[in-house]
Amino acid sequence: MMSNSVKNLKTGSPSGRIVKALSGYYYVLPDGADPHGATVQCRARGVFKKKGINPLVGDEVLYSLTENGEGTVEEILPRSSELIRPPVSNVDLAILVFSVTEPTLNLQLLDKFLVHIEHAGIEPLLCLSKRDLEAEGDETEEARKATEDVRRIYGAIGYEVYGTSSRRGEGVEALHERLRGHIAVFAGQSGVGKSSLLNAIVPGLALETNEISNRLGRGKHTTRHVELIEVGGAYVADTPGFSQLDFTELGIEDLGYCFKEMRELAPSCKFRACTHVHEPGCAVLAAVEDGGVAESRHRHYVQFLTEMKEKKRRY
Ligand code: GDP
Ligand code: ZN
Repeated sequence: MMSNSVKNLKTGSPSGRIVKALSGYYYVLPDGADPHGATVQCRARGVFKKKGINPLVGDEVLYSLTENGEGTVEEILPRSSELIRPPVSNVDLAILVFSVTEPTLNLQLLDKFLVHIEHAGIEPLLCLSKRDLEAEGDETEEARKATEDVRRIYGAIGYEVYGTSSRRGEGVEALHERLRGHIAVFAGQSGVGKSSLLNAIVPGLALETNEISNRLGRGKHTTRHVELIEVGGAYVADTPGFSQLDFTELGIEDLGYCFKEMRELAPSCKFRACTHVHEPGCAVLAAVEDGGVAESRHRHYVQFLTEMKEKKRRY
């Protein structure tokens, strides 16, 4: 991490946030400026490249102005988080979107996403989308049960659960309100309604949804630049975000830490390096036994652990 150099602060370099990156340019919104006002088009100082540092959208920076009205990014202030996909820094809230049906709610996938969000040090928030389908009774018995499970299991762990219908505009305002003061990304499987939700929250955004891209007969996952959109005191990354995840960046020893309720119980395990699989005196296993930890959560934890061990063996 880079230090917030006193020298630079003394020179009084203006500060701002990179809200967009495109073709080697960084667009910096000056601190205190109208969030919908002009940005300063900046190049990064050559030294960043030499050091292998990439300025990211979301970075708080110090910059200097050049004669032509453009600027130079002089320094990147310490980041609170860093995502690789989408490439955004300082995100502090991830809205994990799952539809009540179409596609069917998959708790294993939900846990997988949660692991990654926890690993990135970002606060997750669960959002059950397409509530109108639930209300209309369009969903299967299986989906209804999964919806109940989400509220029961994840609410008990301490995760906030929101419900929305972009189609009817329900729950969108409450979610928007929750974003205030944060830099947020939307994550979730393709087709759960992330783009629709973003479009509902950000007026005029007009993100392409599946419906439109299918009609045009092209894939939805065209690479596009990331941009932070200011909306009512919050920033959201205008990208449908991560929809595919794997465990390559996650160490096996980190997994237990990424399950919030297990992380909280781990200090009570008899062994310090307890993996919560078969050890005697394991507080997590005891909690699974008496219902304090959901069986599905522990099962997925063991599945991910096995998956990671097998992957490691193959290399
Ligand atoms: P993404 O891949 O997660 O960005 O999902 P999209 O926003 O592209 O939506 C996928 C499909 O679900 C599209 O056909 C949308 O019209 C539909 N959809 C999105 N939100 C809702 C909703 O609230 N209710 C219903 N019934 N359908 C929705
Ligand atoms: Zn244990």
